[in-house]
Amino acid sequence: MTQTAAAVRLHAVTRRHGTGDHAVTALDDVSLAFPEGTFTAVMGPSGSGKSTLLQCAAGLDRPTSGSVRLGGTELTSLSERRLTLLRRERIGFVFQAYNLLPSLTAEQNVALPLRLAGRRVPRARVREALDRVGLGERVRHRPDRLSGGQQQRVALARALITRPDVLFADEPTGALDSLTGRQVLGLLRDMVDRDGRTTVMVTHDPVAAAHADRVVFLVDGRVHGELTGATADTVAAHLTTLESVTAPHAPAARETQPC
Ligand code: ADP
Ligand code: MG
Repeated sequence: MTQTAAAVRLHAVTRRHGTGDHAVTALDDVSLAFPEGTFTAVMGPSGSGKSTLLQCAAGLDRPTSGSVRLGGTELTSLSERRLTLLRRERIGFVFQAYNLLPSLTAEQNVALPLRLAGRRVPRARVREALDRVGLGERVRHRPDRLSGGQQQRVALARALITRPDVLFADEPTGALDSLTGRQVLGLLRDMVDRDGRTTVMVTHDPVAAAHADRVVFLVDGRVHGELTGATADTVAAHLTTLESVTAPHAPAARETQPC
Protein backbone atom coordinates (compact mmCIF):
# COMPACT_ATOMS: atom_id res chain seq x y z
CA MET A 1 0.00 0.00 0.00
CA THR A 2 1.23 3.44 -0.86
CA GLN A 3 1.76 5.97 1.91
CA THR A 4 0.27 8.81 -0.15
CA ALA A 5 -3.05 9.96 1.27
CA ALA A 6 -5.96 8.54 -0.68
CA ALA A 7 -8.62 10.96 -1.89
CA VAL A 8 -10.91 7.97 -2.40
CA ARG A 9 -10.50 4.44 -1.17
CA LEU A 10 -12.69 1.49 -2.12
CA HIS A 11 -12.38 -1.63 -0.03
CA ALA A 12 -13.94 -4.96 -1.07
CA VAL A 13 -16.65 -3.21 -3.06
CA THR A 14 -19.24 -5.47 -4.65
CA ARG A 15 -22.25 -4.13 -6.58
CA ARG A 16 -24.90 -6.60 -7.62
CA HIS A 17 -28.04 -5.81 -9.63
CA GLY A 18 -31.15 -7.99 -9.33
CA THR A 19 -31.42 -11.31 -7.52
CA GLY A 20 -31.42 -15.04 -8.21
CA ASP A 21 -30.97 -16.15 -11.82
CA HIS A 22 -31.14 -12.56 -13.02
CA ALA A 23 -28.42 -11.25 -10.72
CA VAL A 24 -25.59 -9.36 -12.42
CA THR A 25 -22.39 -8.68 -10.50
CA ALA A 26 -21.23 -5.34 -11.90
CA LEU A 27 -18.35 -5.02 -9.41
CA ASP A 28 -16.83 -8.01 -7.69
CA ASP A 29 -14.76 -7.39 -4.56
CA VAL A 30 -12.84 -4.38 -5.85
CA SER A 31 -10.25 -2.69 -3.63
CA LEU A 32 -8.58 0.41 -5.06
CA ALA A 33 -7.21 3.71 -3.82
CA PHE A 34 -7.01 6.94 -5.79
CA PRO A 35 -4.16 8.97 -4.25
CA GLU A 36 -4.60 12.71 -3.82
CA GLY A 37 -3.47 14.82 -6.72
CA THR A 38 -3.18 11.96 -9.19
CA PHE A 39 -4.87 11.21 -12.51
CA THR A 40 -6.16 7.65 -12.95
CA ALA A 41 -7.70 6.17 -16.09
CA VAL A 42 -10.05 3.19 -15.84
CA MET A 43 -10.27 0.90 -18.86
CA GLY A 44 -11.90 -2.41 -19.72
CA PRO A 45 -14.36 -4.01 -22.11
CA SER A 46 -17.92 -2.79 -22.36
CA GLY A 47 -19.90 -4.09 -19.37
CA SER A 48 -16.79 -4.66 -17.23
CA GLY A 49 -18.07 -2.34 -14.48
CA LYS A 50 -16.24 0.92 -15.24
CA SER A 51 -19.27 3.20 -14.88
CA THR A 52 -20.43 1.31 -11.79
CA LEU A 53 -16.99 1.79 -10.24
CA LEU A 54 -17.09 5.53 -10.89
CA GLN A 55 -20.64 5.88 -9.61
CA CYS A 56 -19.93 3.94 -6.42
CA ALA A 57 -16.75 5.97 -5.83
CA ALA A 58 -18.67 9.22 -6.42
CA GLY A 59 -21.58 8.37 -4.14
CA LEU A 60 -24.00 8.24 -7.09
CA ASP A 61 -24.61 4.52 -6.54
CA ARG A 62 -24.41 2.39 -3.41
CA PRO A 63 -22.37 -0.82 -3.27
CA THR A 64 -24.12 -4.02 -2.21
CA SER A 65 -21.22 -4.54 0.19
CA GLY A 66 -17.84 -3.03 0.95
CA SER A 67 -16.58 0.39 1.91
CA VAL A 68 -16.06 3.66 0.01
CA ARG A 69 -14.18 6.43 1.79
CA LEU A 70 -13.84 9.97 0.48
CA GLY A 71 -10.99 11.35 2.56
CA GLY A 72 -12.15 10.55 6.09
CA THR A 73 -15.83 10.10 5.24
CA GLU A 74 -17.41 6.66 4.83
CA LEU A 75 -20.02 7.11 2.08
CA THR A 76 -21.87 3.82 2.40
CA SER A 77 -23.33 4.70 5.78
CA LEU A 78 -24.52 8.23 4.89
CA SER A 79 -28.20 9.03 4.52
CA GLU A 80 -29.42 10.08 1.06
CA ARG A 81 -29.60 13.67 2.24
CA ARG A 82 -26.05 13.75 3.58
CA LEU A 83 -24.81 11.98 0.47
CA THR A 84 -26.46 14.56 -1.79
CA LEU A 85 -24.85 17.38 0.18
CA LEU A 86 -21.47 15.67 0.05
CA ARG A 87 -21.71 15.15 -3.72
CA ARG A 88 -22.56 18.81 -4.20
CA GLU A 89 -19.65 20.04 -2.13
CA ARG A 90 -16.89 17.54 -2.73
CA ILE A 91 -17.44 15.67 -5.99
CA GLY A 92 -17.34 16.80 -9.61
CA PHE A 93 -18.74 14.58 -12.37
CA VAL A 94 -18.46 14.87 -16.15
CA PHE A 95 -20.48 12.61 -18.46
CA GLN A 96 -19.96 11.55 -22.05
CA ALA A 97 -23.15 13.36 -23.13
CA TYR A 98 -22.18 16.67 -21.38
CA ASN A 99 -25.62 16.88 -19.67
CA LEU A 100 -25.85 20.67 -19.81
CA LEU A 101 -29.25 22.28 -19.27
CA PRO A 102 -30.31 23.44 -22.76
CA SER A 103 -32.25 26.49 -21.59
CA LEU A 104 -29.35 27.95 -19.61
CA THR A 105 -26.36 29.89 -20.94
CA ALA A 106 -22.81 28.58 -20.44
CA GLU A 107 -22.43 30.97 -17.53
CA GLN A 108 -25.70 29.86 -15.91
CA ASN A 109 -24.81 26.18 -16.36
CA VAL A 110 -21.47 26.72 -14.65
CA ALA A 111 -23.09 28.65 -11.79
CA LEU A 112 -25.71 25.96 -11.20
CA PRO A 113 -23.87 23.79 -8.65
CA LEU A 114 -23.24 26.86 -6.47
CA ARG A 115 -26.88 27.92 -6.75
CA LEU A 116 -28.09 24.43 -5.86
CA ALA A 117 -25.87 24.50 -2.79
CA GLY A 118 -27.43 27.83 -1.81
CA ARG A 119 -24.09 29.55 -2.17
CA ARG A 120 -23.34 32.98 -3.50
CA VAL A 121 -22.36 33.02 -7.16
CA PRO A 122 -19.54 35.50 -7.74
CA ARG A 123 -19.70 36.35 -11.44
CA ALA A 124 -15.91 36.73 -11.57
CA ARG A 125 -15.47 33.17 -10.38
CA VAL A 126 -17.80 31.83 -13.06
CA ARG A 127 -16.01 33.87 -15.74
CA GLU A 128 -12.65 32.67 -14.49
CA ALA A 129 -13.82 29.05 -14.69
CA LEU A 130 -14.95 29.57 -18.29
CA ASP A 131 -11.72 31.39 -19.15
CA ARG A 132 -9.78 28.48 -17.77
CA VAL A 133 -11.42 26.13 -20.30
CA GLY A 134 -10.96 28.65 -23.10
CA LEU A 135 -14.58 29.78 -23.32
CA GLY A 136 -14.38 33.27 -21.84
CA GLU A 137 -15.88 34.65 -25.07
CA ARG A 138 -18.92 32.43 -25.00
CA VAL A 139 -20.41 32.95 -21.55
CA ARG A 140 -23.83 33.96 -22.93
CA HIS A 141 -24.13 31.10 -25.42
CA ARG A 142 -26.65 28.35 -24.89
CA PRO A 143 -25.49 24.73 -25.45
CA ASP A 144 -27.11 24.45 -28.90
CA ARG A 145 -24.80 27.23 -30.11
CA LEU A 146 -21.68 25.43 -28.90
CA SER A 147 -19.77 22.54 -30.49
CA GLY A 148 -19.48 19.20 -28.68
CA GLY A 149 -15.99 20.02 -27.46
CA GLN A 150 -17.11 23.42 -26.22
CA GLN A 151 -20.09 21.89 -24.41
CA GLN A 152 -17.81 19.39 -22.71
CA ARG A 153 -15.53 22.23 -21.63
CA VAL A 154 -18.53 24.03 -20.11
CA ALA A 155 -19.40 20.77 -18.33
CA LEU A 156 -15.85 20.62 -17.01
CA ALA A 157 -16.01 24.21 -15.74
CA ARG A 158 -19.34 23.36 -14.08
CA ALA A 159 -17.90 20.24 -12.42
CA LEU A 160 -14.99 22.24 -11.02
CA ILE A 161 -16.78 25.41 -9.88
CA THR A 162 -17.23 24.03 -6.35
CA ARG A 163 -13.52 23.06 -6.23
CA PRO A 164 -14.33 19.41 -5.52
CA ASP A 165 -11.95 16.97 -3.84
CA VAL A 166 -12.26 14.58 -6.76
CA LEU A 167 -13.28 14.92 -10.39
CA PHE A 168 -14.83 11.86 -12.03
CA ALA A 169 -15.24 11.71 -15.80
CA ASP A 170 -17.05 8.84 -17.55
CA GLU A 171 -15.80 8.67 -21.15
CA PRO A 172 -15.54 12.47 -21.36
CA THR A 173 -14.06 12.32 -24.87
CA GLY A 174 -16.22 9.44 -26.10
CA ALA A 175 -18.43 11.71 -28.22
CA LEU A 176 -15.65 14.01 -29.47
CA ASP A 177 -13.36 13.87 -32.49
CA SER A 178 -9.72 13.26 -31.65
CA LEU A 179 -8.62 16.91 -31.86
CA THR A 180 -11.31 18.31 -29.54
CA GLY A 181 -10.93 15.21 -27.36
CA ARG A 182 -7.27 16.03 -26.96
CA GLN A 183 -8.12 19.60 -25.88
CA VAL A 184 -10.36 18.24 -23.12
CA LEU A 185 -7.66 15.76 -22.05
CA GLY A 186 -5.10 18.57 -21.98
CA LEU A 187 -7.40 20.53 -19.67
CA LEU A 188 -7.88 17.53 -17.36
CA ARG A 189 -4.12 17.02 -17.21
CA ASP A 190 -3.61 20.72 -16.49
CA MET A 191 -6.17 20.63 -13.63
CA VAL A 192 -4.19 17.77 -12.07
CA ASP A 193 -0.78 19.38 -12.58
CA ARG A 194 -1.65 22.96 -11.60
CA ASP A 195 -4.42 22.47 -9.03
CA GLY A 196 -3.56 19.01 -7.74
CA ARG A 197 -7.10 17.92 -8.59
CA THR A 198 -7.54 14.19 -8.04
CA THR A 199 -9.07 12.90 -11.28
CA VAL A 200 -10.53 9.53 -12.25
CA MET A 201 -11.53 9.02 -15.89
CA VAL A 202 -13.09 6.10 -17.72
CA THR A 203 -11.97 5.79 -21.33
CA HIS A 204 -11.82 3.30 -24.20
CA ASP A 205 -9.02 5.17 -25.92
CA PRO A 206 -5.35 4.25 -25.22
CA VAL A 207 -4.26 7.75 -26.30
CA ALA A 208 -6.62 9.28 -23.72
CA ALA A 209 -5.48 6.82 -21.03
CA ALA A 210 -1.84 7.77 -21.67
CA HIS A 211 -2.62 11.25 -20.28
CA ALA A 212 -3.16 9.67 -16.85
CA ASP A 213 -0.52 8.80 -14.25
CA ARG A 214 -1.97 5.35 -13.78
CA VAL A 215 -4.26 3.07 -15.79
CA VAL A 216 -6.41 0.50 -13.99
CA PHE A 217 -7.96 -2.32 -16.01
CA LEU A 218 -11.28 -3.99 -15.21
CA VAL A 219 -12.57 -7.30 -16.52
CA ASP A 220 -15.90 -8.79 -15.39
CA GLY A 221 -16.11 -6.42 -12.44
CA ARG A 222 -12.62 -7.18 -11.14
CA VAL A 223 -9.34 -5.32 -11.31
CA HIS A 224 -7.11 -6.99 -13.85
CA GLY A 225 -3.75 -5.25 -13.63
CA GLU A 226 -2.60 -1.66 -13.81
CA LEU A 227 0.12 0.40 -15.46
CA THR A 228 1.88 3.53 -14.31
CA GLY A 229 3.47 6.04 -16.67
CA ALA A 230 1.91 4.22 -19.61
CA THR A 231 2.11 5.25 -23.25
CA ALA A 232 -0.69 4.67 -25.76
CA ASP A 233 1.33 1.70 -27.04
CA THR A 234 1.77 0.01 -23.65
CA VAL A 235 -1.92 0.55 -22.87
CA ALA A 236 -2.94 -0.95 -26.23
CA ALA A 237 -0.64 -3.92 -25.60
CA HIS A 238 -2.19 -4.53 -22.17
CA LEU A 239 -5.69 -4.33 -23.68
CA THR A 240 -4.75 -7.12 -26.09
CA THR A 241 -3.89 -9.38 -23.16
CA LEU A 242 -7.35 -8.64 -21.69
CA GLU A 243 -9.01 -9.75 -24.91
CA SER A 244 -7.65 -13.24 -24.38
CA VAL A 245 -9.10 -13.17 -20.86
CA THR A 246 -12.55 -12.17 -22.07
CA ALA A 247 -12.61 -14.24 -25.29
CA PRO A 248 -15.25 -16.97 -25.05
CA HIS A 249 -13.97 -20.56 -25.08
CA ALA A 250 -10.57 -19.51 -23.79
CA PRO A 251 -10.46 -20.92 -20.25
CA ALA A 252 -6.75 -21.73 -20.49
CA ALA A 253 -5.89 -18.09 -21.16
CA ARG A 254 -8.01 -17.03 -18.20
CA GLU A 255 -6.15 -19.38 -15.88
CA THR A 256 -2.73 -18.18 -16.94
CA GLN A 257 -3.49 -14.46 -16.61
CA PRO A 258 -1.75 -12.78 -13.67
CA CYS A 259 -4.26 -11.15 -11.34
P1 ADP B 1 -19.14 -0.39 -18.28
O1 ADP B 1 -19.26 1.03 -17.87
O2 ADP B 1 -17.78 -0.99 -18.09
O3 ADP B 1 -19.62 -0.63 -19.69
P2 ADP B 1 -21.25 -0.86 -16.34
O4 ADP B 1 -20.68 -0.47 -15.04
O5 ADP B 1 -22.17 0.09 -17.00
O6 ADP B 1 -20.09 -1.28 -17.35
O7 ADP B 1 -22.04 -2.23 -16.16
C1 ADP B 1 -21.46 -3.39 -15.58
C2 ADP B 1 -22.46 -4.52 -15.63
O8 ADP B 1 -23.55 -4.23 -14.77
C3 ADP B 1 -23.06 -4.78 -17.00
O9 ADP B 1 -23.25 -6.15 -17.16
C4 ADP B 1 -24.37 -4.04 -16.94
O10 ADP B 1 -25.30 -4.62 -17.83
C5 ADP B 1 -24.77 -4.24 -15.49
N1 ADP B 1 -25.61 -3.14 -14.97
C6 ADP B 1 -25.23 -1.84 -14.80
N2 ADP B 1 -26.25 -1.11 -14.30
C7 ADP B 1 -27.29 -1.96 -14.14
C8 ADP B 1 -28.63 -1.82 -13.65
N3 ADP B 1 -29.10 -0.65 -13.20
N4 ADP B 1 -29.41 -2.93 -13.65
C9 ADP B 1 -28.94 -4.12 -14.07
N5 ADP B 1 -27.70 -4.32 -14.53
C10 ADP B 1 -26.88 -3.27 -14.57
MG1 MG C 1 -19.83 2.74 -18.91
